[in-house]
Amino acid sequence: MDKVGVLALQGAAQLHVEALRALGASPVEVRTPADLAGIEALVLPGGESTTLSKLLDSSGLSDAIAERLADGMPAFGTCAGMILLAADVLDGRPDQRCFGAIDVSVRRNAFGRQVDSFETALAVDGLAGGAFPAVFIRAPVVERVGEGVEVLATVDAWPPGGDGARRPVLCRQGSVLVAAFHPELSGDLRLHQRFLSGT
Ligand code: GLN
Repeated sequence: MDKVGVLALQGAAQLHVEALRALGASPVEVRTPADLAGIEALVLPGGESTTLSKLLDSSGLSDAIAERLADGMPAFGTCAGMILLAADVLDGRPDQRCFGAIDVSVRRNAFGRQVDSFETALAVDGLAGGAFPAVFIRAPVVERVGEGVEVLATVDAWPPGGDGARRPVLCRQGSVLVAAFHPELSGDLRLHQRFLSGT
C-alpha cells in the first residue's frame, strides 16, 4: 500500500501522517470526497466521534467513504475512528452514524473520563517485538464481537470489580483493523506497519 488517506476533519490526524510517512507510504489528508481519489486505504484517527460524524455528513465524505468501504478499501480506525467503523455504538448520540465496516459493537467512553486515561503494555497476537505501549484516552471498548472478527488484544474489564471479563481493544475483520487506543502516540510503528502490510 502506498497512497494512504488519513481522515483529517478533526482530531489526531497529524501523527498518523508522520507514522505512515516514516514507514515509506505516501499519506494524503482527506477532507473532501475528491481527496479520496487514488487512495488505497484509509486511516480514521481519534478525536470526537460525534463531531466527526457531523463533519463527515456536512463534507459529503460519509457516503463517499461508505462506498469505498463497501468496495473493500482497507481501513484502520483508532479510538474515535474505531467507533466510526463499528456496526453499533453504545452510549452514542442518537444522530451519530457509523459505517458498519467491522462487525463489533463499541461503547464510547467505556473507561471513564479524560482523567481516567491510561497507558498499558498490551500483548498483541502475532506482533513480534514484545508488548505494544497502548495509550487510552477517553477510549471506547468492544462489547460484542461478530463472527469473522479476530480479537488481537484485550484489557481487563472496567470498572474494577466488574464481571472480571477481558474486553477486546484491538480487532480485525478482513482488511479492517480497529484499535480502542492511540497507536500513533507511542512512537511505536508496528501496528501501522502491520496495517500497511495487510497482515
Ligand atoms: N471519547 C471519544 C468519542 O467518543 C473518543 C476519544 C478519542 O478518540 N481519543 O468519540
